[in-house]
Amino acid sequence: MAWYDNGVEFSCRMCGHCCSGEPGSVFLSDKSIDDISSFLGMDRQEFLQKYTRQVDMGTYRQISLKERDDYSCVFLGEKGCTIYPVRPLQCMTYPFWPYLFEDRALWEAEKSNCPGIGSGEHHDANEIRRLVRQTLLEKLVTIVD
Ligand code: SF4
Ligand code: SF4
Repeated sequence: MAWYDNGVEFSCRMCGHCCSGEPGSVFLSDKSIDDISSFLGMDRQEFLQKYTRQVDMGTYRQISLKERDDYSCVFLGEKGCTIYPVRPLQCMTYPFWPYLFEDRALWEAEKSNCPGIGSGEHHDANEIRRLVRQTLLEKLVTIVD
């Protein structure tokens, strides 16, 4: 029995906090790179050069969206995400991330980062498992020299 078997409440309040604030990475899959570059009308190489950076993960690197000096995402605009229809899976599934469902305490603690957690729409255990699995199965671009 999982702690979230009775579901959880969450509705996004569009506060933009998860797109700004503290330093972080928004990792990309191959599909995401293709989707965003074509949404922007750019070729893949141009997009990678202009909007992404490589993050050192120890023995390999992953591709993340760039951040501005204030740590906001390079695609955060005045009215929210400027690539919303093709935003990366990591953005699409937040806060249904695997580690936040490992323990109720982690989910509860995440309320300090996301005011949408704990109220609003009810999400049942099946939906939670589907979103968590989707995140776990995403194949992110990995660069090994
Ligand atoms: S922090 Fe939560 S409520 Fe705010 S924009 Fe992100 S998901 Fe929505
Ligand atoms: S891609 Fe969009 S949703 Fe994701 S962090 Fe950047 S602005 Fe936020």
